[in-house]
Parts: sequence; structure tokens; C-alpha cells
Amino acid sequence: MDAAHFPGGHAAGVVFPRSTADVVDAIAQHGALLPIGAQSSLTGGATPMGETIVATSKMARIVSVAPHEIVVEPGVTVAAMQDALREIGAWFPPAPTYTAACAGGIVATNAAGASTFKYGSTRKWVEAITVVLADGTVLEIVRGRQRARDGRLTLATRSGTIQVPVPGYRMPDVVKRSAGYYAEPGMDPIDLFIGSEGTLGIITRITFRVATPAPLVAMAFVPCIHELQGLGLVGDLRDASAETWRSDDPAGLDISAIEHMDRRSLEIVHEDGVDRRHNVTIPPDTELALLVQLELPAGTTDEAAYRLVEHALSEASMDGPIVRFCRILDAAGLLDASELAPPGQVRRMRDFLQIREAVPEGVNRRVGAAKRTVDDRIEKTAADMIVPFERFADMMRVYRGGFERRGLDYAVWGHISDGNVHPNVIPRRYDEVVRGKEAILEFGRAVVSMGGCPLAEHGVGRSAVKQALLEQLYGQDGIDEMRRVKRVLDPGWKLAPGVLFQRSRPA
Ligand SMILES: Cc1cc2nc3c(=O)[nH]c(=O)nc-3n(C[C@H](O)[C@H](O)[C@H](O)COP(=O)(O)OP(=O)(O)OC[C@H]3O[C@@H](n4cnc5c(N)ncnc54)[C@H](O)[C@@H]3O)c2cc1C
Repeated sequence: MDAAHFPGGHAAGVVFPRSTADVVDAIAQHGALLPIGAQSSLTGGATPMGETIVATSKMARIVSVAPHEIVVEPGVTVAAMQDALREIGAWFPPAPTYTAACAGGIVATNAAGASTFKYGSTRKWVEAITVVLADGTVLEIVRGRQRARDGRLTLATRSGTIQVPVPGYRMPDVVKRSAGYYAEPGMDPIDLFIGSEGTLGIITRITFRVATPAPLVAMAFVPCIHELQGLGLVGDLRDASAETWRSDDPAGLDISAIEHMDRRSLEIVHEDGVDRRHNVTIPPDTELALLVQLELPAGTTDEAAYRLVEHALSEASMDGPIVRFCRILDAAGLLDASELAPPGQVRRMRDFLQIREAVPEGVNRRVGAAKRTVDDRIEKTAADMIVPFERFADMMRVYRGGFERRGLDYAVWGHISDGNVHPNVIPRRYDEVVRGKEAILEFGRAVVSMGGCPLAEHGVGRSAVKQALLEQLYGQDGIDEMRRVKRVLDPGWKLAPGVLFQRSRPA
């Protein structure tokens, strides 16, 4: 069972390959297969439904590490990659929040982290993969070597050269998408496998591009009395950072992530005593709290950072990212309530992060308790949607309206710098799960109409609601186009059957 607690999981068996050749053997010897990494999937994609599991935990070798790239087997965790990179002063920027996730899993779901705003999702960082297809062909795909022509990708397999049709649907223009097969005229074949959730091939080696040096990071906790005040601040911080990246201004503000917690999320943190344990003040009338991650020029000491904060307003001649940040906070009326943890205050930053992490933990605990004590059918009922940031306030109105009209308790948190948040129902009874799912489908339609994507970073998996959202996005014809891709690469429907979509259109 994966982190989605998808019901009914059962497997024909499990194999633990140690090499690409072992994966080829597994494909020859078994029927349907489901590759898994850490099973942290939030969609049921890593829950077997009768397949043989291909567990990648014994393929966990870091093959090589260099300042510009890391080559890994699929079972290497994100945390292990970051540890190895830290030793040479490098890092992997698109890391998802859950760092026990494996390299194969994050590629297969095109995972994204808090810092996608600046660095993009996993896709952008994948330079090469080795992937085993359903017929046992081992493909080595290096980004940039090949492109689709005339709507087709040509791949050399052991069964001969095959032509994979590139779907004709248009993907929404947002920074995060984990919504079925990538499709673009002239696309690179590597992009077809990234985000394909195990349905097109089993990834056995990955070359990730990495960044050097790792940035110096500070973090600010910003409680906002009014949501609009917070959204205005996020807009200003996004604009100022975009300008810095455009102009390369060394004094410019450089924000890599802004996390968001709504009022109910903060109530949960407070009910669970997490704010008191970590000594973080959340004023009782706070409507929205933000956690802002700033990147600072190398060598910025804590003493210098505190001095800049102290004099940012009084000394007009002062400049630099911290000074500009304070001035923007002040203009939004938020400077006094905010707290900055400079780069050396790692424990303080951890306190802030604990507040953010306590939100999903608290919600999941409540869902689990209701399932145990009220009704076994109660389950996590949540969405993972993104809209262009300009539509964020509209999207929040849609979430609130949809939940409140149905009398549901809910919390919303996530990665506001991308316009990507997670609306979650906190169900007290089973009928609230049913109504929550209905609300999520309504949100999907609204998000698509705003130019967003109803499946941002967690993927589609086996979840009936997420598969319905995929259909809302691309229509039945779009799903048929994905089926055609699958049929060419996996005619026997051997790999991860039932993940992303069903084998045929419902009658
Ligand atoms: C607390 C928590 C926080 C999370 N935060 C984030 C976040 O910030 N951002 C985010 O994007 N996600 C997040 N997730 C979701 C999850 O961590 C990601 O989807 C992650 O990419 C899954 O990696 P995994 O190794 O656990 O893969 P699994 O869950 O084991 O598998 C996921 C999918 O990938 C396929 N797969 C796995 N390995 C391979 C392979 N070698 N070849 C082909 N297919 C393969 C599986 O078949 C399955 O469809 C979070 C989950 C949890 C529990």
C-alpha cells in the first residue's frame, strides 16, 4: 500500500532487481508488473492490484557525483542524493518535500518541490535515463539527441523500429504538471517517459543535472491578518524576483519558494500545540501565513543580516536582498509581525518548517482518526491543482465556495509561489468524503477554465477522482491519444496497468 492508502492492494509477488539485466529478466519471467520506489505516492500509483512488484530498493547505488551532474540508480533516495551532493557543495533544486522518495519515483511522477518557482520541476533536471520497455528493450535516452518529427517519435526496439504517435492535446501553460503523458510537437523522447508513472517503461538509471554552489538560504515566517494582504505580498515578491533573474542584479531580491497555510491550517497547528512547541507566534486573527525562502549573496553573515533588517527602513542608502525584502514587507504592513531566520539559524528555520509540515500531518491524523472511530470508508480527500498566479485569488474563492456550500470542514496549504495549493477535506463522516470528491471535480473544471492544471505534482495514479480530472483536462479523445501511445510501447498492457487510465473507454 502506498501513502494514499489506496484500498484493496494485493500483489502476485515481488522481485528485487539489482541491475538493468535483472529488470529485463523480470519482464521476461512475469506477467503484469508494477515498479515502485518509496511508495510515497499520494495517488495509489504505487499500490499493486495483482501485479508483480518490481521494488527498486536494491538498485540504490550512486554511480557518480560531479558538480554538474549526478548519476544514480532508481532506488537512491532524494535525501541520499542531497547528502552526496552536499559534500561537493552542489545540490538538487527540484527536490520534493518528501526526501525519502526515490530517484525513479520522482522521475516517473515528474515530482516538484517548494522551489519550483525558481528551479522548475524534476523534468527540467533529467539529462538522461536508461529505461526498460515492456518487450525487454533497454533504451538509453540522452536529452537533446532526438526529437519527434511529423507527429511521431521513432524508437529502436528489439522488436524493430516503432513509431510512437505524439498526442495532439495542448498542455496547460503552468510551471507544474503531473498529468499523464507529455506531448508537444518536436518533443524529446525523454519527456515521454518522465511523468509516465511506470506505464511505459521501468527506469533503471538516471542522470540528473545539479546546481553548484548550493545557495545561502534565509527564511521568514510572515503571518498575515488578511488574505488579500498576503496575496499582494506574494505578487510583489514574485515580480521582484523575476526582475532580479532577468537583470542579474546582485542587490536584487531572490526568492526561491513561498509556502502558504490558510486559517484552518493554522488552527490545526495551534490545536496540536506545534506553534507553542516551536515557539512560533501566530496571532489569533491570522488569515494566512507565509513561509518565504530567500537566497542571499555568498558570505552574508547572520550579524550582517540582522544589521540590514534593523536599518532597512532608516538608512535609505542601504541596499541588498534583505533590505529590499524588509521594504516590501513594510509596504504591505507586515514587517513588524514577521520573523526572519538568517542562514546560520538552522534550528529556527527548522522550527518554521515544522509549522508547515505539521499541517498535512495534522490533517492526515484527523482523517485517520475519523476512519478508525467513525467509518472505515473515510479516506484522504484532497486535490493538488495549479493556476497561473494571477488567478490564485479566484481559485481560492472557488475552493472556499465549493467546500462551504457543502458544509465541509477543510484546510488549504501548499506552494503559493507557483499558484499550487492542496485543498483538503477534514471529513467527520463518510458522506463528507463523497461530497468532498464532488467538490474536487467542480474545482477541476474551474481550474481548467482558468488555464491551470488540476494535477500539478502528485500525478494521477489509480485514483478515480484524479483519473476523472485527467479526463476533464484533455477529454476522452485526449485519453484515447494516451492509450494509443501506451498500446504502441506496451501492447500487452504489462506495465502498471490501471495507472493513469483504464485500458478502454468506459462504455
Ligand atoms: C509527506 C509527503 C510529502 C510529499 N511531498 C511531495 C512534494 O513536495 N512534491 C511532490 O511532487 N510529491 C510529493 N509527495 C508525493 C510523492 O513523494 C512523490 O510522488 C514521489 O515522486 C514518489 O516517489 P516514490 O519513490 O515514493 O515513488 P512511488 O510512490 O513508489 O511510485 C510512484 C509512481 O512512480 C512509478 N515508479 C516508481 N519507480 C519507478 C521506476 N524506477 N520506473 C518507472 N516507474 C516508477 C510507480 O509505478 C508509481 O506509478 C509527497 C508524499 C508524501 C507522503
